[in-house]
Amino acid sequence: MSHLTEQDRDAVRAALMARRAVVLDEIVAAERETGETQFAELLGRHNGDSSDEALAVTIGDLAAARLDLELGEFNRLETARLRLDAADFGQCGECGEDIPVARLIANPAAQRCIVCQAQFERTHAH
Ligand SMILES: [Zn+2]
Repeated sequence: MSHLTEQDRDAVRAALMARRAVVLDEIVAAERETGETQFAELLGRHNGDSSDEALAVTIGDLAAARLDLELGEFNRLETARLRLDAADFGQCGECGEDIPVARLIANPAAQRCIVCQAQFERTHAH
């Protein structure tokens, strides 16, 4: 049985949909930025100005990296959205503990409790 009440689920769903809208906006912005930079790169190549070109590549890489992050979060939000009504939604994927509803509202894509998330970040730190 889930520890979440119907109201808890509604609150998490509202937070998730709000976050999803923000991430979608950021994806559109990052995609536009990536496209514009690629265009700037092409122009730079024609000018033969190598310093501008190098700068454009760096900005393009940053935009692409940001886009990657946003797409990753969007995927996690989508996974959470599809699982929202599942009986085990809101339980830690590692230890099975209930994830507090406040944590789910703050981070609707959270898949782990705070203890397991800290452990995960330590093991996957680079
Ligand atoms: Zn856990």
